[in-house]
Amino acid sequence: MNECVFCRIARHELEAKVVEEDPDFIAFHDAHPVAPAHLLLIPKRHVASLSEWVGVEPDVAGRWLLRARDLASTLGFAKSGYRLVINTGEWGGQTVAHLHLHLLAGRVLQWPPG
Ligand code: AMP
Ligand code: ZN
Repeated sequence: MNECVFCRIARHELEAKVVEEDPDFIAFHDAHPVAPAHLLLIPKRHVASLSEWVGVEPDVAGRWLLRARDLASTLGFAKSGYRLVINTGEWGGQTVAHLHLHLLAGRVLQWPPG
């Protein structure tokens, strides 16, 4: 039994506000948004982090990134701007050990992050 919370969302076993999905990826709203729009885009297949996405097809990784770009456009943020974040590992601030990309938008975002 795979208890990974994002795997459970990908299998629709755990409730989430899903925005879109295809056979490889699923996007849903973050449960604790830190911006007016805060979505997570994850590969459905379990991988703990970007560092551990070993052997991934470059085409799959590329589609993941472009999918995030298109999601931002669909939500209307192409012009105003947005931020994509991949927290990786302990020092990177990763708290859920299933690879995910944050899409943050809807307000002016500060830089640098803490
Ligand atoms: P990170 O700190 O980069 O690992 O981000 C993990 C994110 O997952 C956080 O922003 C959490 O709010 C979010 N999160 C954790 N559990 C859930 C859940 N069940 N549904 C949606 N978002 C979640
Ligand atoms: Zn998982």
